[in-house]
Amino acid sequence: MSLRTLFLTTACISLAAPAFAQEVNIYTTRQPELIQPVMDAFTAQTGITVNLAFVSDGLVERLKAEGKRSPADLVMTVDIANLQQIVDADVIQAVDSDILNAAIPANLRSADNLWFALTSRARIIYASRDRVADGEVTTYEDLASDKWQGRICTRSGLHDYNLALMSAVIAHDGETGAKAWATGVRANLARKPEGNDRAQVKAIWAGECDISLGNTYYMGEMLADPEQTAWADAVRIIFPTFESGGTHVNVSGVAMTKAAPNRDEALQLMEFLASSTAQGIYAELNTEYPVLLGAPVSDLVATWGSFTADDIDLEELAKNRPAALRIMEEVNFDG
Ligand code: FE
Repeated sequence: MSLRTLFLTTACISLAAPAFAQEVNIYTTRQPELIQPVMDAFTAQTGITVNLAFVSDGLVERLKAEGKRSPADLVMTVDIANLQQIVDADVIQAVDSDILNAAIPANLRSADNLWFALTSRARIIYASRDRVADGEVTTYEDLASDKWQGRICTRSGLHDYNLALMSAVIAHDGETGAKAWATGVRANLARKPEGNDRAQVKAIWAGECDISLGNTYYMGEMLADPEQTAWADAVRIIFPTFESGGTHVNVSGVAMTKAAPNRDEALQLMEFLASSTAQGIYAELNTEYPVLLGAPVSDLVATWGSFTADDIDLEELAKNRPAALRIMEEVNFDG
């Protein structure tokens, strides 16, 4: 055997290896326990192994550093800002899939097929059952009204969730309106922003404030935690709208890396994640909203009531993010 033949033989063996491996590698910023059951269902159906690597920090830097040698096929993360950051880093490839396009509404995926939402969540108001009357708050804009003086709790204004909301405020009310809104909300805070969304509900339970901003699924998480059930029971969910729109929603989503060593299997998994089976698991376990048209929410989530999602394009929210951050800093929201 000539050296050249030997080389080709070796090359063929190593090239063929991934096809037999039948696996998909995922970098995720989502807690593995939130997505493992969906992956298990995929493996049971296809025999394809899913390897989850939890990356809490520096996801974009890692993908950029690894470049074409990255073992990651897919990236899963939350918040449009994080999805957009991965796209901007130029480490993502477009995925043209009739199945994904049919399953996921156009406003919940990138116009260039670079990312696809898998679940959505609304940013809503948690209101004290005892101290907030029905109909007392119906819009985001109303949070700046002085009737709420000393009654609002929230996490940092610089957190992704609040910056996305602020980006939506800018889209609806312009930068000037958004700055006035942030100033008004800040003046109504019962305390400096601190803690996560659930800590605000705890503060309502403790009588420190009457309303807070939070994501819907945290109600599910609090009810599932014996220590936090009392907090959850102290509040009800109100779906506020913008005066000129609906309720603010954000997403968790998936994107395929440019490197994607297991592209075919990764595409199969993406399509599975948008299927009724996977969407049903998400809805039950994570108390998030499915993106698949017609897929039911969980029984618990159904008790919260229905709402009309704001129709601002998520990519427009991502574009407004720098202005949202600047305004939050200008009004010294957390100070
Ligand atoms: Fe969260």
